[in-house]
Amino acid sequence: MPGPFKGEVIPREEPCRICNEGTGKQIGVIDYWDIKTSRLVQCVSCGHIQLDPMLNDEETAKGCQAYYIEEGLRTGKEEQFKNCERNFRRGVVFSYKFKRKKITPLTVLELGPGTGYFSAGLKFVFPSLQITVMDINSDVLEFNREQHGFKTIQGIPDNFVSNCSGKFDLVVARDILEHVTDISKVIKNVHAYLKPNGLFHFIIPNGKEDVWGHYLTFNLANTASELLINHVNYFDGKGLKDLLNRKGFSSIDYYTYQVKTTLRGKGWKKNPRLMSPLSVKKKADLFINEKVRELPVIEFKKTEILDKWYVHQNRKWLTYFYSLYHHFNLFRISPERNIGHEIYGLFRKA
Ligand SMILES: [Zn+2]
Repeated sequence: MPGPFKGEVIPREEPCRICNEGTGKQIGVIDYWDIKTSRLVQCVSCGHIQLDPMLNDEETAKGCQAYYIEEGLRTGKEEQFKNCERNFRRGVVFSYKFKRKKITPLTVLELGPGTGYFSAGLKFVFPSLQITVMDINSDVLEFNREQHGFKTIQGIPDNFVSNCSGKFDLVVARDILEHVTDISKVIKNVHAYLKPNGLFHFIIPNGKEDVWGHYLTFNLANTASELLINHVNYFDGKGLKDLLNRKGFSSIDYYTYQVKTTLRGKGWKKNPRLMSPLSVKKKADLFINEKVRELPVIEFKKTEILDKWYVHQNRKWLTYFYSLYHHFNLFRISPERNIGHEIYGLFRKA
């Protein structure tokens, strides 16, 4: 059903971060706030879609700060608490995969942990698990230390941290890989951080569906679309798997799930209603300097967030089954078909 993107093949300002190819098919133009205008290009060799040129660290930091405020203004306390709870449950479901395989991980590194509740779910199942989280944002790190007692490292996944070399049984990157500048470096670093036979778990939005709105705006409205969250990578299911294989990983689980978005037409239907919003070059400084004052102060109380009838230290099986009921993926599609909302990966260091 979904065909390939159509677009003009052009020389790129920067080569593909996966395969170094110098040309790409232009499939969109985005404005990242009022910070930068870039083209969206799909590599003609490996299929990877990226911003060209890529955002630099300073631009990313500014946009992320603005996005944090923008998101905070439209997401209430209840929704944020729900997200924590959902991530906790996903952590529990994930842990039981290990339990069933009689594996007890001792050390885990989570890249970009957000509120840390996924790792909190791991810790709930494996109480002796040592958890380290890595993030660039010091507020995120402080939150993870205070809320969960995790060890923290300030850094970005692209930059190698020699301290982490060979230390971890598991590296987690949930909704992170789509944000990184240099995906090849990141995969290489993750490989180095793992012990022999260590595991790498990630989720990413499906590249084709994630980029579809921008593609339509470019093709139907012939204009730039708005990019507020720094999704700078849109992965091709086959290209990503090939990259992981080349970097020394073998696949355990690799699938796409949640086809609701596909049924609505994402990735194939040329419907103007599916377009990404036209760019208005939203002012990042306005959010950072002024709107920030409207941001509500929310106190995240872990006892309150996890005060649920099914969360019980002595009845973890109950927590597991309830969590599984909410997060079991019935449909599993090969990511190589580039349909579905999200890609789930679990890979082993070969
Ligand atoms: Zn490429």
